[in-house]
Amino acid sequence: MELRLFNTLTKEKEVFQPLDPARGVRMYVCGPTVYDFAHIGNARPVIVFDVLYRLLRHLYPGAGHVKYVRNITDVDDKINARAAQEYPDLPLNEAIRLVTEKTEKQFHEDVDALGCLRPDVEPRATEHIKEMRDLIERLVKAGFAYVEQEHVLFEVGRMSDYGKLARRSLDEMEAGARVEVAPYKRNPMDFVLWKPSKPNEPGWPSPSGIKTPGRPGWHIECSAMSWKHLGETFDIHGGGIDLVFPHHENEIAQSRCAFHSPMMAKTWMHNGFLQVEGEKMSKSLGNFITIRQLYAQEFFGGKKWSPESVRLAMLRTHYRQPLDWTARNLEEAEDSLEAWSRVAKKTKNSAGVPEGVLRSLSDDLNTPQAIAELHKLWRARDTEGLSGALALMGFDLSEGSTYKSLLKRTIESAFDEVEKRRIDERVAARNAARASKNFAESDRIRDELKAMGVVIKDNKDGTTTWEIAR
Ligand SMILES: [Zn+2]
Repeated sequence: MELRLFNTLTKEKEVFQPLDPARGVRMYVCGPTVYDFAHIGNARPVIVFDVLYRLLRHLYPGAGHVKYVRNITDVDDKINARAAQEYPDLPLNEAIRLVTEKTEKQFHEDVDALGCLRPDVEPRATEHIKEMRDLIERLVKAGFAYVEQEHVLFEVGRMSDYGKLARRSLDEMEAGARVEVAPYKRNPMDFVLWKPSKPNEPGWPSPSGIKTPGRPGWHIECSAMSWKHLGETFDIHGGGIDLVFPHHENEIAQSRCAFHSPMMAKTWMHNGFLQVEGEKMSKSLGNFITIRQLYAQEFFGGKKWSPESVRLAMLRTHYRQPLDWTARNLEEAEDSLEAWSRVAKKTKNSAGVPEGVLRSLSDDLNTPQAIAELHKLWRARDTEGLSGALALMGFDLSEGSTYKSLLKRTIESAFDEVEKRRIDERVAARNAARASKNFAESDRIRDELKAMGVVIKDNKDGTTTWEIAR
């Protein structure tokens, strides 16, 4: 099966081939900054790239053939502020450790519940300061970065194709930059690789002869961690569309210039924005939703939602499209899961996943099309196919899953009205064939219904009824 992925760098859907088949498929996705509960906007890339990870593991089976790295940002101003606020009596370093450990645990609980596999490596920024310093020194030596007032800055004017990912020219970017430029910058677009730590803030020995302790800028950690765990160049780099500029543009600048290489990652993938009931999600609008509020509280739409329905609701929209998070979307996802769970059986084996599902996912992760295929399998009562496909897409509808405990409805109500009418029509057609003694046709229709899981019963009084096979 040919895998095609849309590449933000080329703005085209391209056939995917691992850069170095011997090293397997290498994927890096920007992970959470750990200072608070993850919100549903954070959940989108986690779920989208989990589906891609599962698909890649299916297409490139065998231990170690796919390596997925997602970082944990544990050095950030927001973390420092939260730590000082939550634990005012503790030394800041200790308070930071408590905040990041707690938040990392919450994040794992939430994304585990959403059915997301853990990446192969989850590197922490604070454990890769050495690699960051190494990169920064390479950049300074090669003339792409400079030291000024205890800061190290990347000089964007030294890179001829800076702005290629975001498709912006340096002139455009400069015109849009703030009027007030920090005094240590040669050019308003130059960005920080390293900066001095304020007293009391966490600090590390600085690179490039700077005497005072400092800390890394935001972008350098991803260049350092992807290098350490995946190499100088790798296959796929992912994240939300809001990361294209400046974060990913700057990652590319750092990595390519440090390694004098024509590319950092070959394929750049970005998921679209998420809004809530047609509005931008923000704390000030009061529509800010965490993953946990959806499944653990009656917070959104007046009820608790199963993590599986959250996952499905997320995948009903193609990952590159903007997603409108609505209670109706969740309701519909829940109905689908309920219907599928009547036909699917418990399996973690995606070996028997039907071609239609695989073809849809291989076409730039076309999850809406894959979900349409799941409905087809369900209508055909194809237990094997549906179970394999659900396993591949990361759904566990088995007994004991959170989802199953929320099931209330009967088998019959899982059939919608359209479906019932369709079956009634087929039963009437069979009866007509029987009446005209066309038994070949009446048997054919009976077998067709049987394949859909519908059993026909001819009653003594001459009527025909049907029911769903259990
Ligand atoms: Zn990143």
